[in-house]
Amino acid sequence: MEKQAFNIAVDGPAGAGKSTIARMVAKELGFVYVDTGAMYRALALFCLQREISPEDEALVSSAVSKAGITIIYEEGVQQVILNGENVSGLIRTEQVGNTASTISAYPAVRAHLLNLQRDLAARTNVIMDGRDIGTCVLPKAQTKIYLTATPKVRALRRFKELKEKGVMCNLQEIEQDIIERDQKDMNRQIAPLKQAEDAVLVDGSDMTIEEVVSAIIRTAKLHGLVV
Ligand code: C5P
Repeated sequence: MEKQAFNIAVDGPAGAGKSTIARMVAKELGFVYVDTGAMYRALALFCLQREISPEDEALVSSAVSKAGITIIYEEGVQQVILNGENVSGLIRTEQVGNTASTISAYPAVRAHLLNLQRDLAARTNVIMDGRDIGTCVLPKAQTKIYLTATPKVRALRRFKELKEKGVMCNLQEIEQDIIERDQKDMNRQIAPLKQAEDAVLVDGSDMTIEEVVSAIIRTAKLHGLVV
């Protein structure tokens, strides 16, 4: 009989550190890290490149059916391929993130990515992060984590990240952006961001990255992960 894959779902608001932490957990456990936000970002880029207004649900919904998204791994790092082009380097801007947040509220956009996300987790041990992984995408994930931090802490982290990259930015604006994105993600009709009933809440505001990584691995072991 085929061995069942072990799935860790990590959900939480923007800037909570999900991707950094999930990547480290994946490395330590030998799991594959699946970043679902990158898939929504690739669809957002597809719309921006075609000058399709993110507010126009009908147009976005019909357009995304023409966006072929494939995920590959290069030296263990996820790459997003959009209609044959590797767009991983183009999707990390605030504009793409905000557009992703708008269009991810549309059912056709979510449906376009659901099977791809489920297929990736079906046969492989994965840690997958996003907004609805524990609630919708992988409801049977053995371990579910809801990772959060205060908007202030999240804004400060993003501010430092952007500064290090040499990007001009303003802390207040980043915090406002984060609060607005949370509002959108938590209040949409379909697959809103919320803690799954069986998810473990981790508030990383006063924890180091290493402490959060250890907490997730400890939780997975409690849920039956044998390493
Ligand atoms: O996590 P990241 O900031 O890359 O995600 C960009 C946007 O994509 C989020 O603000 C959210 O609206 C959307 N998203 C989603 N469901 C996911 C992952 C991301 O709706 N599973």
